[in-house]
Amino acid sequence: MSDCLFCKIIKGEIPSSKVYEDELCYAFYDIDPQAPVHFLVIPKEHIASAADVNESNAAVVAHIFTVIAKVTKQLGVDSYRVVSNIGLQAGQSVFHLHFHVLGGRDMTWPPG
Ligand code: AMP
Ligand code: ZN
Repeated sequence: MSDCLFCKIIKGEIPSSKVYEDELCYAFYDIDPQAPVHFLVIPKEHIASAADVNESNAAVVAHIFTVIAKVTKQLGVDSYRVVSNIGLQAGQSVFHLHFHVLGGRDMTWPPG
């Protein structure tokens, strides 16, 4: 999608700090980290949010979770939180599906 911030990051039109990349997904550090480790994993295919996951595009979500397991191990993070905000009220600000991976500090529950 031409006017999507994360599509531009995938295309290299906007710089990012890459953590991992393969043919299906891209991972990069969040520009405004909320924990000592905070990166985002996004599908290369534009999907607006987890509310738009369906039978035809769901495989990339499973793949992203294998990437999260692998990258966190590489980073030496063994306890972490995976978050996907869906919609404005939940705090979604970029409408390209992304999974926040946060770790390296104590977490509280419930989230704010
Ligand atoms: P959300 O608010 O859940 O939609 O998450 C969007 C995330 O994207 C926020 O945590 C932002 O800090 C992050 N973000 C926005 N622009 C960039 C960027 N250019 N590079 C890296 N992270 C970004
Ligand atoms: Zn996009």
